[in-house]
Amino acid sequence: MVLADLGRKINTALHELTKAPVIDEKVLDAILKEICGALLMADVNIKLVGRLRENVKKAVNINDIGGGVNKKRIIEKAVMDELFDLVDAHTDVYKPTKRKSSIFLMVGLQGAGKTTTCTKLASYYQRKGWKTALVCADTFRAGAFDQLKQNATKAKIPYYGSYTEADPVAIALEGVEKFKADKFEIIIVDTSGRHKQEAELFEEMKQISAAVQPDSTIFVMDGTIGQAAESQAKAFKEAADFGSIIMTKMDGHAKGGGAISAVAATQSPIVFIGTGEHLHDLERFEPKPFIRKMLG
Ligand code: GDP
Repeated sequence: MVLADLGRKINTALHELTKAPVIDEKVLDAILKEICGALLMADVNIKLVGRLRENVKKAVNINDIGGGVNKKRIIEKAVMDELFDLVDAHTDVYKPTKRKSSIFLMVGLQGAGKTTTCTKLASYYQRKGWKTALVCADTFRAGAFDQLKQNATKAKIPYYGSYTEADPVAIALEGVEKFKADKFEIIIVDTSGRHKQEAELFEEMKQISAAVQPDSTIFVMDGTIGQAAESQAKAFKEAADFGSIIMTKMDGHAKGGGAISAVAATQSPIVFIGTGEHLHDLERFEPKPFIRKMLG
């Protein structure tokens, strides 16, 4: 179930509150059943769904509250609060400082949208007046440097990479050192991915991370992968200890539940979502507006 459908289902369930002549435990249970069913179909982890149900019931305490309108509002608020909580990691997001070099290390599987996202993120900061540069440390995928070069040129962002150097750690370090010396404020390092999680990839990520000492490691995750999101996020968290997540392809058939479960599994905030293939298709992610938009 895609996000818009999930929002519609939850809205329909909440609308039942207006129709019911009396709002009692049975009505609340029926509504929660609808909402929880929709969340499960959107691939939200079953434990999180169970927790939402319990927390809403606890917060509402149906037998102790007064009349109709009041009950409806209390239930709606309890459901909304729990939905906000699902996508909120309750941790601070790294914030760069002007006139200092901040290094962002981007990690994720091949095809997740890492290279595209690097340029989108660079362009986002550049438009906000930060001195921004890109480093391509992906020596695994043929054409990765060309892709980054093309994107960076189009967006007018300085870049660094090599056609001859095969060691991604050496390139990452050289690029970061060069841009640091030139007083760049945001230095975004693109790393290579693999088709699946594997030891070699994780080892490479660790070495690059040790070499460039990132201020912020960002996990780029495909928003369409559904239930696999949770274990993938956990594996990357263990190997790369990322601080935040960018969820891509949220414009397409993203179920969204994967994103929600990834936040909960790693307690790491989603900072941006990718909403298309173009340079400007990157939106800041905020839990409350995201849920409100989903509910329409
Ligand atoms: P990488 O292997 O992780 O570096 O992935 P790429 O950056 O090469 O992206 C893989 C594909 O996903 C490309 O066709 C991108 O245009 C596409 N892509 C990346 N982000 C988004 C997004 O937010 N929405 C959509 N629809 N496509 C995206």
